[in-house]
Amino acid sequence: MKKLDELKFDNRFARLGDAFSTEVLPEPIAEPRLVVASPAAMALLDLEPDEAESEVFAELFSGHKLWSEAEPRAMVYSGHQFGVYNPRLGDGRGLLLGEVLNDAGEHWDLHLKGAGQTPYSRMGDGRAVLRSSIREFLASEHLDALGIPTSRALCVTASSTPVYRETRETGAMLLRLASSHVRFGHFEYFYYTRQHDRLEELGRHVLECHFPHCLEQEQPWAAFFRDVVERNAELIARWQAYGFCHGVMNTDNMSILGITFDYGPYAFLDDFDANHICNHSDDSGRYAFSNQVPIAHWNLAALAQALTPFVEVEALREALNLFLPLYQAHYLDLMRRRLGFSCAEPEDEAMVQRLLQLMQGSAVDYSQFFRRLGEETPEQALSRLREDFVDLAGFDAWATDYQARVVRDGGTQEARRERMHAVNPKYILRNYLAQRAIEAAQQGDYSEVRQLHAVLSHPFDEQPGMERYAERPPEWGKHLEISCSS
Ligand code: AMP
Ligand code: MG
Ligand code: MG
Repeated sequence: MKKLDELKFDNRFARLGDAFSTEVLPEPIAEPRLVVASPAAMALLDLEPDEAESEVFAELFSGHKLWSEAEPRAMVYSGHQFGVYNPRLGDGRGLLLGEVLNDAGEHWDLHLKGAGQTPYSRMGDGRAVLRSSIREFLASEHLDALGIPTSRALCVTASSTPVYRETRETGAMLLRLASSHVRFGHFEYFYYTRQHDRLEELGRHVLECHFPHCLEQEQPWAAFFRDVVERNAELIARWQAYGFCHGVMNTDNMSILGITFDYGPYAFLDDFDANHICNHSDDSGRYAFSNQVPIAHWNLAALAQALTPFVEVEALREALNLFLPLYQAHYLDLMRRRLGFSCAEPEDEAMVQRLLQLMQGSAVDYSQFFRRLGEETPEQALSRLREDFVDLAGFDAWATDYQARVVRDGGTQEARRERMHAVNPKYILRNYLAQRAIEAAQQGDYSEVRQLHAVLSHPFDEQPGMERYAERPPEWGKHLEISCSS
């Protein structure tokens, strides 16, 4: 375990030089206060949990202090936003402070979001508001606890520096951790500016640092792309299985590591709705829940285009064609487990589809349904869950088939319950929970964010006394409008 001043840095991305990122110093926010820190994320850096209490912690993560070994830089990238190519994006309000090398030999990017303007800020102020910083913090640590690959969040600091959006808001910074901050858009930038030497350099860096196993393949670039396809297929399967909507799946928000990245107006489904659009600014529903699968595929095709100088089109196409079947296999596997099946049957896919169709247009809470299904015997659980469905005849037919399926699967109710509870969270990050914590934090009370973070870090555990965090949204919390302006 380490103290803050004992972190070791090895800034590999910075060493790529000025074609890839620009040196920028963080612009501090005034009177920083620690809002919340994640002990689990701190452990990734070997930091003692107590270090979060020190004054220097809030100073480091609000831009007031810097490690001597840190080399803060803004990365350049581009990307497709809502299907349209934007030639120049880049870190407009976040800085890669450096890469910490932990005792296990892992590198962790320290990325400070809300650190002030950079050459990529365009019209923006380089700042982040408390609201969206808290949302990213909570989601990062919760998705990780759910077993969904994601960037991590170390802490949020708040400030007396105001930030202006639709209204005057509290300024904040978020410290994000990831093995890499390279996005699909990094490759697109060097491809579309025809800097193929740089593109090759970027690829070599990514392969050496993050995909070393691909270097042993006959065609390392093709192997890399296949790996990215595989990781994304698995990632999106988990999103869909757990009802997570990202909201802004632009290619600049897609990580080459296949992790959930750049949280904005995301949402977990409350009532199941395949057509749910969580981003208030997404008028056409491009990033609607059920569109996430084809959009991920589209994004991978955009990355493939940027790799054409190095990989045969045929090889890229072949890898792209793996996406859907891989996605389907992962999704079905997870849904089977959510339904409590320990073995596979050919009819399982139809059973999942039928269930979702019955949920659609009903008032069924997506997360609670699975948790409650495992809580009691199928017969008991189904009779309780039945009341939220509209098509009762359809539901009864499904329930009969489900019960027969559970019998064929065998085993005791006790084993079934344990198996199901290990994959079906009791606690899920619902928008209304985040909203309540944010409103308290905006009044300077951080206890609710901290409590919520603690509960959501163990989403599968029964937590006596915390049941109120497992409740469905109250009326005011059902249709919260969350937009991109953060
Ligand atoms: P996002 O919608 O957060 O993925 O951001 C898209 C692009 O806008 C990225 O290049 C961001 O760095 C940039 N950006 C977003 N918000 C700001 C801001 N407040 N100031 C400067 N740049 C920003
Ligand atoms: Mg982004
Ligand atoms: Mg963002």
